[in-house]
Amino acid sequence: MKIEKCFGCTACVNICPVQCLQMKPDAFGFLYPELIGNCIRCGLCEKVCPAEIVIDKKSCGEVCFAAIAKKRHSESTSGGIASLMSTKVIEKGGVAYGVGFKRGKCVYNRIDSLSEIEGIRGSKYVQAELNDTLALIKCDLVNHKSVLFVGTPCTIAGAQLYLDNQGIDMEKFIAISFPCGGVPSPLFLQEEIGEINQTNITVKFREGRKYLFQCKTLSGEVLKSQTRVRSPYLIGYDYRLTLRSCCYSCLFSKESRIGDITIGDFWGLQSNNEPFKSLYKRQQTASLIIITSPKGEAFFKFIEKDIWLEKHSLKEAFIHNPRLHEPAPAMTIAAKNFRSKYMQIRSIKKAIYSSLSLYDFFKEYYRYSKLLQPFHFIMGKIRTQ
Ligand SMILES: Cc1cc2nc3c(=O)[nH]c(=O)nc-3n(C[C@H](O)[C@H](O)[C@H](O)COP(=O)(O)OP(=O)(O)OC[C@H]3O[C@@H](n4cnc5c(N)ncnc54)[C@H](O)[C@@H]3O)c2cc1C
Ligand code: SF4
Ligand code: SF4
Ligand code: SF4
Repeated sequence: MKIEKCFGCTACVNICPVQCLQMKPDAFGFLYPELIGNCIRCGLCEKVCPAEIVIDKKSCGEVCFAAIAKKRHSESTSGGIASLMSTKVIEKGGVAYGVGFKRGKCVYNRIDSLSEIEGIRGSKYVQAELNDTLALIKCDLVNHKSVLFVGTPCTIAGAQLYLDNQGIDMEKFIAISFPCGGVPSPLFLQEEIGEINQTNITVKFREGRKYLFQCKTLSGEVLKSQTRVRSPYLIGYDYRLTLRSCCYSCLFSKESRIGDITIGDFWGLQSNNEPFKSLYKRQQTASLIIITSPKGEAFFKFIEKDIWLEKHSLKEAFIHNPRLHEPAPAMTIAAKNFRSKYMQIRSIKKAIYSSLSLYDFFKEYYRYSKLLQPFHFIMGKIRTQ
């Protein structure tokens, strides 16, 4: 397998019977499996690799929902549906897996108490470390616990192949994926956090529809705050300069989806019914929910009384959310330049600014300028007709 295709899902490392694989960072900080011992050529790592095996994806159907959790927390990224799902599973005695900060790094966490929900709330636009997550999930399922796993589609694919190959009953495994815009390296994030004491911080990337880069202590003190156009990290993400190689030809940005439910942002929502319309106006954001399996349908029924919902056609969601049907464009010249500049100067800020042209910066500024908002609104209206 070509290494650029590897998602970093850790399924191969977890399945290896002689533990001769380990995840190690490449020059950009992305983790890849590396041979560290004697391989007995059992072939198991290939059987669980989502880059090698064509995994069964599920049809989206024709409808979806705009959704806002009735008790949406302001720190949630969109409608607060992921956190609500985690809450409901834990209330029933199950466990939830999500991404939070630990000692300045973004990692998948296993949580089984409601007090831990805050730690995993909010999207972190970075590749999170899995460590022993797949083994922990297996253990929970063997112990008959309900497991909710919210993750990138490729991570879910790796987890499913790993569990399936171990003969684990997946009836109690609920997989929630999202339309995925790709993941930058944890190394780039750490550089942006920089001189700030990295042990007890968290980074907020979104406030409703607004992107920002805000480092805070766990008690809420803001240590660094940058708007989208001033943050090199977000500019790099926006221009898709800093993504993992596999994200430039993602196998999962397709109309058929992985997992039991897809949640995401309902960009460009035209809400027509009260009380949803007023609520959406107040919250300035809403989640998208697409149900993709009978297990997902049953779970949705279990949580739906806690959500404000509005039914829409899937077509509406597709218009403003390209990652539901096509991967991020192939690696551009600017992205290749970024990579070679980063290797020379080892500074994400300098590498980003020297990879983009002046024209790109003007485009970036005007894209988010208030001046153009009426134009975006009219274009959105035309597209949804
Ligand atoms: C890297 C990334 C790219 C995304 N790209 C898109 C996109 O292109 N289009 C779109 O519609 N939506 C995208 N999303 C999803 C979107 O940002 C929201 O996460 C989603 O709508 C859930 O919001 P919420 O309010 O329901 O969840 P919240 O209540 O805010 O909880 C967020 C959930 O996301 C999980 N999470 C946070 N960071 C990560 C991470 N790095 N990896 C895996 N899980 C994580 C948390 O564990 C938690 O369960 C992306 C998310 C991530 C992490
Ligand atoms: S072939 Fe078997 S022993 Fe060799 S790396 Fe893969 S899983 Fe491990
Ligand atoms: S199993 Fe996952 S981590 Fe291992 S090679 Fe395949 S994609 Fe990469
Ligand atoms: S864009 Fe595709 S390959 Fe990249 S993290 Fe998301 S699901 Fe995985």
